[in-house]
Amino acid sequence: MTAPGSRQHAQHPFLDGKTKRLLIDGKWLEAASGKTFDSINPATGEVLAQVAEGDAEDIDRAVEAARRAFEGPWGKVKPFERQAILLRFADLVEQHADEITELDTLDMGAPVQRTRGMKRRAIGLLRYYAGMATALHGETIENSLPGEVFSYTLKEPVGVVGAIIPWNAPLSSSLWKIGPALATGCTVILKPAEEAPLTPLLLGQLALEAGVPPGVLNVVPGFGETAGAALARHMGVDKIAFTGSHVTGQKIVQASAGNLKRLSLELGGKSPDIVFADADLDAAVPGAGMATFLNSGQICSAGTRLFVERRIYDEFVGRVADFGRNLRVGNGLDPDVTIGPLVSREQFDRVSSYLAIGRQEGARPVTGGERLTDGDLANGYFVAPTVFADVRDDMRIAQEEIFGPVISAIPFTDIDEVLSRANNTMFGLGSGVWTRDVSKAHRLAKGIRAGSVWINCYQAMDPAVPFGGYKMSGYGRESGIQHLEEYLNVKAVWIKTD
Ligand code: ADP
Repeated sequence: MTAPGSRQHAQHPFLDGKTKRLLIDGKWLEAASGKTFDSINPATGEVLAQVAEGDAEDIDRAVEAARRAFEGPWGKVKPFERQAILLRFADLVEQHADEITELDTLDMGAPVQRTRGMKRRAIGLLRYYAGMATALHGETIENSLPGEVFSYTLKEPVGVVGAIIPWNAPLSSSLWKIGPALATGCTVILKPAEEAPLTPLLLGQLALEAGVPPGVLNVVPGFGETAGAALARHMGVDKIAFTGSHVTGQKIVQASAGNLKRLSLELGGKSPDIVFADADLDAAVPGAGMATFLNSGQICSAGTRLFVERRIYDEFVGRVADFGRNLRVGNGLDPDVTIGPLVSREQFDRVSSYLAIGRQEGARPVTGGERLTDGDLANGYFVAPTVFADVRDDMRIAQEEIFGPVISAIPFTDIDEVLSRANNTMFGLGSGVWTRDVSKAHRLAKGIRAGSVWINCYQAMDPAVPFGGYKMSGYGRESGIQHLEEYLNVKAVWIKTD
């Protein structure tokens, strides 16, 4: 099917044919090497822009600028002023929301249905962190030392932060790092994913317009093994805030050892979504479907292990398969499209290999399981929403993160059994429970070892509610008060007063 308006990107104001440069110290610079790479629209295969390819030398320049700003004027900026800057930035993001969300769609493929839907939360994030900028404080703490000794704590920004983000939600991933960094008084080097660098660069432009001083926010696109690795090992960086795969997370832990920099890691998942026979199945069918199909399955907390109570298993799995079959797949610029392409050839190959593995392991594809190539789809990386039935816990499609629109449906019989099987994974990011029985809901909410439990919903997110992982889904939390703490050091001050 041809998506109306699929050529519109030529008119996108950010895509002016010029090479997109690095933002370092408030200036737009070529990469030191002079190299560039192409940013590609995964729905059409077209090149959207050439982007300067930052590597170790550019990271050095950005870290120097961030350090200068941190130790210079930015360190003296009062919380009210940081708040005002963040609010101005939020206003500009809101004014440019259509432009930004369309750029995300062009660069990484998610339909405008989704990217526009992210607007409220993205702007909400900035306003939430703006609010928190003036709410940070230490404590006075009574101690038990003999004599008169007064003690209190100061909360201080951790310093220069390297923010390494993935491609699956460039707008909100960028703001999820920039917001808390600026609220707490840190400075940032944002390293976007090579698959989707454009929105982070546009955000850099808006941040400058909002009055973020030179060096406080630097944006350096480049590849993971070069720019990303240089940032992770850099002795001048105080913290890495990383979102991405657990394998890269492990590399970052190793690279960070040189100066034992602070880390927060939001990694992958293989989240259980558990449907009991007593649930409101009319709500659970689309809920469980979109828990995986949203963003073509390219969401770390996607509910990809669908556990269904055995007595409704065949019927429910059939209904989810029908739901997936009826979703409109196509170029995300079409407002009627719900499922866009996978982000890249590499991601497409990875998902395709799991489709083959699922079949070889004996799982039964009830729907999907193949590439879609009708008409214009032939030029992009489209995979049909897929449901595998008869999946066993030990199959690779039940254990490994696929990051594609692939549900592994598994039957279960009782609550204790499903709890232990749900926890039988190295990951612990999201989880879902569909039931009308409040005691089942609470027992699972307590028993599941994951950072989020969604009951009779999935993927709900809010700037005030923490999000993050257990086990190999990482550590640290984003959103909520705890997120700010990830960017702060606590200093104890003692004063002998007698
Ligand atoms: P994916 O496999 O989904 O692309 P990654 O974890 O590889 O996820 O990528 C997430 C981010 O991590 C991207 O910005 C990428 O460039 C970066 N990255 C990849 N490899 C490394 C590395 N060795 N060191 C630091 N960053 C990396």
